[in-house]
Amino acid sequence: MNCYCCSGKEFADCCQPFINGKGKPATAEELMRSRYSAYATAAIEFLLRSTHPSTRKFHDAESLENWARSNVWKKLEVISTANGNPVDKEGTVEFKAYFTDSNGQSQIHHELSSFRKELGKWFFVDGKIL
Ligand SMILES: [Zn+2]
Repeated sequence: MNCYCCSGKEFADCCQPFINGKGKPATAEELMRSRYSAYATAAIEFLLRSTHPSTRKFHDAESLENWARSNVWKKLEVISTANGNPVDKEGTVEFKAYFTDSNGQSQIHHELSSFRKELGKWFFVDGKIL
């Protein structure tokens, strides 16, 4: 099946290895995409694990899971990226996540996410709603 993140690749060749811990995103965009796919599949443990320890305390598993499961995740659109390449330590990704909420309303979550790499691993730090 095509990956939830709309890369056009198979889920098994795209976000799935990151979510199940068999691979490591090389770029901030790959991590961002896999976090979207994690929302789409309610992979809460991965969402927490890929959040930087400094901001992880602002997220709790239960509310993440409720939000992930109450929405139907439709589509991801990556608008732009800055840095976040394998050689970088920081990067940002602007994206739109399209979903249908629990009231059946179409919603667009437009965010600029910040990422930081430590010990060769990318983490989501925080996001600004646009
Ligand atoms: Zn993907």
